[in-house]
Amino acid sequence: MEMNSANVEAVVKQVLESMLSQPVSAPAAAPAAGGAIPKTAHVAMLTALEHYDVKEFPMPEVGDGDILVKVEGCGVCGTDAHEFKRDPFGLIPVALGHEGTGEIVKMGKDVKVDSAGKPLKLGDKVVTCMIFKDNPDITMFDLNKQNVGGADVYGLLPDDDIHLNGWFSDYILIRKGSTVFNVSDLDLKSRILIEPCAVLIHAVERAKTTGILRFNSRVVVQGCGPIGLICIAILRTMGIENIVAVDGNQQRLDFAKRMGADNSVNFMNHKGIEALSGAVKEAFGGYEADFAFQCTGSPVAHANIYKFIRNGGGLCELGFFINGGDATINPHFDLCSKEITLVGSWVYTLRDYATTFDFLKRAKAIGLPMDDLITHEFPLEQINEAHVTNLKQEGLKIAIVNQ
Ligand SMILES: [Zn+2]
Repeated sequence: MEMNSANVEAVVKQVLESMLSQPVSAPAAAPAAGGAIPKTAHVAMLTALEHYDVKEFPMPEVGDGDILVKVEGCGVCGTDAHEFKRDPFGLIPVALGHEGTGEIVKMGKDVKVDSAGKPLKLGDKVVTCMIFKDNPDITMFDLNKQNVGGADVYGLLPDDDIHLNGWFSDYILIRKGSTVFNVSDLDLKSRILIEPCAVLIHAVERAKTTGILRFNSRVVVQGCGPIGLICIAILRTMGIENIVAVDGNQQRLDFAKRMGADNSVNFMNHKGIEALSGAVKEAFGGYEADFAFQCTGSPVAHANIYKFIRNGGGLCELGFFINGGDATINPHFDLCSKEITLVGSWVYTLRDYATTFDFLKRAKAIGLPMDDLITHEFPLEQINEAHVTNLKQEGLKIAIVNQ
């Protein structure tokens, strides 16, 4: 959805109206749809490198501004994999899991609407975004496109005496002041995919600022893990038809075609950058790409991708969620003489989060196999196995799903 200023005003007005029209009485103390709330909750805590323990904690008090959510599922992210292997954030012991979703089973009397102004009630399905304790100026309708990197997020919080801080659990306590969205109109798999999809919605928004990405653009997507595959899906929902996928794994390239790439190039079949860029050009029928998305964490891949792009083309680099080391490019040949417009992309804005809900509905409506991105589901007790499977990179998105 394109937001022009008239739209924004209308939305803000609608939000204010819905806030004012909320009943002042406390929500009914009806039991959760899934039955009574148990006395204890289970949380998968990463207690040592490559080791989770499922721990039991007393169910916390729900404050006036808090929401207790019964967790239905949570995706395993690349960030979780880094934390599992090396604890780069120094958080152990930590309750991980930030791609989660579940059902509201209890909420404080002050909770009326979600971060977009949509009413909230018991039984609603929700997801969380970032927590802006230190920057209350970031709001849903903040028109400057400030991204939310550096903010707190459930699933990457230091442990505290409540412990229900991550989505790899059966209950999570959403504290007062957190961002939360009512996504009851999306199915479970779509809800688990919201967070990674928001990363790509943001990247495509960044790409659009170059003015190069157009209806009939030729676009290269390099890297066909979940991030690259979702990138292709978003381009398809925008009506971009000429997409070439580049990866070294034939299975992933086949999936890229199901997602809407009309051609693919397996770099394992082409020795050297000359041969590889020749193959990409051939895949476009003899043309170089107008635009490229770099979706791998490989510095060599970053250096290579310039060779696929035409003079005056554009590039969005979004593959480096963590420091992957330096890449060597030739500024004269790769950037200046070709006049490449380059944008970097990092996480998302709250607005991108809301756009993602619409994207997921449209992707399903045009028949893209989004659900098939979730290749493995594990119960909470098998969270260690889930992470090991994720590290083997045999599947695409691995998810913890509670019964
Ligand atoms: Zn993630």
